[in-house]
Amino acid sequence: MTETKLWRVDPGAEGLADDPQIREAAACLARGEIIAFPTETVYGLGGNAKFRDSVRKIYEAKGRPSDNPLIVHVATTEQVREICTDINPMAKKLMDAFWPGPMTLVLPSRGEVSDTVTAGLSTVAVRMPAHPVARALILASGLPIAAPSANSSGHPSPTKAEHVYHDLNGKIAGIIDGGETGVGVESTVVDCTLTPITILRPGGISKEQLEQVAGTVADDPGLTRPDQIPKAPGMKYKHYAPDATMLLVPAGKEKIQELITDEKNSERRVGVLTTEENREAFPEADVVLCCGRRSDLKTVAHRLFAVLRDFNSKKVNVIYSETFPETGIGKAIMNRLSKAAGGRIVE
Ligand code: AMP
Ligand code: MG
Repeated sequence: MTETKLWRVDPGAEGLADDPQIREAAACLARGEIIAFPTETVYGLGGNAKFRDSVRKIYEAKGRPSDNPLIVHVATTEQVREICTDINPMAKKLMDAFWPGPMTLVLPSRGEVSDTVTAGLSTVAVRMPAHPVARALILASGLPIAAPSANSSGHPSPTKAEHVYHDLNGKIAGIIDGGETGVGVESTVVDCTLTPITILRPGGISKEQLEQVAGTVADDPGLTRPDQIPKAPGMKYKHYAPDATMLLVPAGKEKIQELITDEKNSERRVGVLTTEENREAFPEADVVLCCGRRSDLKTVAHRLFAVLRDFNSKKVNVIYSETFPETGIGKAIMNRLSKAAGGRIVE
């Protein structure tokens, strides 16, 4: 058991890289400890990417399978050059357009980061986060920071410091609480070693946004076809799951109402994952939780993981969830929802 320190930092404050708490957290990283910090997507669990022991601690604390590589977080393009052998013109274009921000690029590795970060692959995933606390921490440490989401493997990703505390208290050296994260779903992982560039995981930057800069953008067939292995090793795992069985209901609210009525004589407590627009539509459900507004999918992404976690404290047995159009950020939302539901759909 490690004592987990809690640092509270205002992301809007001036001169964050000199903040004594950020400095203390950076010193932990330099000593080989692992700490959680906010990014604009979700909270990350960071360690020195060059130090095998730190990286091993990350896998251990999360219970993460060792074949699932980590994203390296940087604050400057010089750091990217230190880690990757070749930043091709397309990668450069994407970096100029979307960094700092919620996009991760897979590039050829120089072998500078520990092979536990890349799970032995010849490529490395790199991201420059936009969150002021993440940037300040990386700059203050002077290190490339390997950081997966700061949750126990399989649980919904953390969008608040309290989620991290729930999963990892006693297992990590500290948590920087910088308030709720903004985007709410993880970064888009783009493989830049393939032509055309290929989305390995949908996320905070949409396919449409990438197409505006890159022209043709492919989707990894492994994301949707059960006969294909996903190119991002992490995408083959069960993930984001609440305790209750979750089912997606593409037919919408009338069908969900019907399903709730069918459960009336069962002992099971029924939850509904819905949106503000349909908040009043399920009076017979035991628990109704809203993730944002259907008319603005960004609000749904922002709330999604917190709502999945909230269902655990409500002790429901089954959750029926609305689905969303797969345009813009909707693609990332539906990817996370179908994983949370283990692919279960009510036709
Ligand atoms: P997480 O850190 O939990 O946000 O997940 C990072 C995602 O990026 C996982 O799905 C990883 O499998 C994927 N990833 C990391 N490095 C690579 C790489 N070199 N090639 C392909 N996918 C990667
Ligand atoms: Mg994760």
